[in-house]
Amino acid sequence: MFGSSHYLQVQGVAMGTKCAPAYANLYLGGWERELFDPVHSTPYLSKVISWYRYIDDILLFWSGTKDELVLFVQHLTQNAFNLKFTMECSQSQINFLDLQISLHPNGQIHTALYRKPSSGNTILHASSAHPKPLLRSIPFSQYLRIKRNCTLEEEFLQAAQELYSRLLDRGYSHSLLKKAFNKAKKLNRKDLVFSDKLPDTRQPIRLITQYSNQHTQIKHILNQFWPLLTADPTISKYVKTYPDVTYRRSPSLRDRLIKSHHSIDTSHAPTATGTYQCGKCDICAFVTNSRTVTLPNGDIHTIRHRVTCATVGVVYLAQCQCGSYYVGKTKRPFQIRIRDHIKPLYKNTTTTAINRHIAAQHNFDPHAILFSALEHVPPHARGGSIDTRLLQLETKWIHILHATSSPGLNEHISFKPFL
Ligand SMILES: [Zn+2]
Ligand SMILES: [Zn+2]
Repeated sequence: MFGSSHYLQVQGVAMGTKCAPAYANLYLGGWERELFDPVHSTPYLSKVISWYRYIDDILLFWSGTKDELVLFVQHLTQNAFNLKFTMECSQSQINFLDLQISLHPNGQIHTALYRKPSSGNTILHASSAHPKPLLRSIPFSQYLRIKRNCTLEEEFLQAAQELYSRLLDRGYSHSLLKKAFNKAKKLNRKDLVFSDKLPDTRQPIRLITQYSNQHTQIKHILNQFWPLLTADPTISKYVKTYPDVTYRRSPSLRDRLIKSHHSIDTSHAPTATGTYQCGKCDICAFVTNSRTVTLPNGDIHTIRHRVTCATVGVVYLAQCQCGSYYVGKTKRPFQIRIRDHIKPLYKNTTTTAINRHIAAQHNFDPHAILFSALEHVPPHARGGSIDTRLLQLETKWIHILHATSSPGLNEHISFKPFL
């Protein structure tokens, strides 16, 4: 008998954040370790023939009766990890991830592609502004996936037909699809499922950049001048193999648009985390009103506390409309520190890196700048003095955001607070 049990929500982690799958894996791994620990052993475990887990989906082969399986799942539900389970089971067929697994009368296990009835056509559109090689590789990788998933050729052909119309719908050309299909069809499924390739143990050097239109040009320049580096007697010691040139995602429109100088966040609940205007001081106009901060590198930062103009103990990010930015900290109320940066501008004088920038670049207009909190150190925080903690966090952020190099406005970084 097959059993597949799904557990869907890990407490305290919103799926969809970058770390959620890693966190869920660790969490479920901790639970599994305890489950299989001989100390807590249960007779049900002897009925489990095999157990596979992908993040929070578990596939298990069960040798007991259905009643015993139900009791086993009840047993699983009693855990100290606050995990809940739903279960589907069958003696002939079960869906797991993108596989439909069925047991044939001859004792063989067959697999075919499984698509949730509700799943839409989410294949990346061929006209998307992604790198061309990436787009061109999509049809083949999709055909490859169904080739791997389908035990029987006829099932592969049927799935391929459905895939063809979905890809066509997303703007891929008939000729590209035909090529990709034929390439996948020719492959031997056994080689795809049972790979005897050894894991790659090389440790290549990686050159990681942010993706841009110039990516190909950058690669070309590197290619052209790489021999110069390898010919240099000093540098060549460090640059043996030609690097893999890869890139990370560049900020998307969404990243750029999510925070606007004119938008007002509607989350006014007094418990909401983020940076908020207090609503009653002359500094409010210079404070963002938002749960998150879009950092100069395009990442979205979510602060764990609620910070307003009046909050004491803040590491902050000042962002100018021109893209310049500055990381600072204060153990006084946030608004007092902001006033230090803003007030001199009204008297056409300068005292800080921020107001020097605004004076020089924006004709003393204080409204060029907005302040967001990156961290809050509560007055009674544990672990060393507040001054040290603020300095450490400030240093951390100057470092993360490369704030000492343009368009960053910080003048220096000191690692003293960590010594
Ligand atoms: Zn205020
Ligand atoms: Zn500026």
